[in-house]
Amino acid sequence: MSAVLTIRDISTDGTHFMPQHVATCSCRQLMLRATDDPLRISICHCHACQRRTGSVFGVQARFREESIVIRGNATAYVREGDSGGKATFHFCPVCGASVYYRLDQAPGVIGVPIGAFVRQDFPPPSISVFEECMHPWVRLPDTVEHVF
Ligand SMILES: [Zn+2]
Ligand SMILES: [Zn+2]
Repeated sequence: MSAVLTIRDISTDGTHFMPQHVATCSCRQLMLRATDDPLRISICHCHACQRRTGSVFGVQARFREESIVIRGNATAYVREGDSGGKATFHFCPVCGASVYYRLDQAPGVIGVPIGAFVRQDFPPPSISVFEECMHPWVRLPDTVEHVF
């Protein structure tokens, strides 16, 4: 099966094309479509993101909630942040991959791990956080803003 992960639609006024970003879990039971570009893309090196992803950092895009359409079943896991805020991660109960999350501290916004989009042309992160936990071999884009 060939996967076309970027769908282009004619917008309601018919004059331009609006990109749609589709993210899925490993088994594709859980899918999400973003009809807007992300508000921001960040890379997080914190230990919780390392455990969540099984990698040494998480990279995620934030979207306005209104621009997101979700299909499929998700299980929620609530994580209490060190700074007090809660994050609710939604993952596929079949394959276990996280497809989206919400943060108590950012209402109206949905975060999506950018690996779920499987697109090489996804923009790089503009913000890097929790660099105190960063693995020493990781190299970041020169343009990234370091937030502590
Ligand atoms: Zn799945
Ligand atoms: Zn993190």
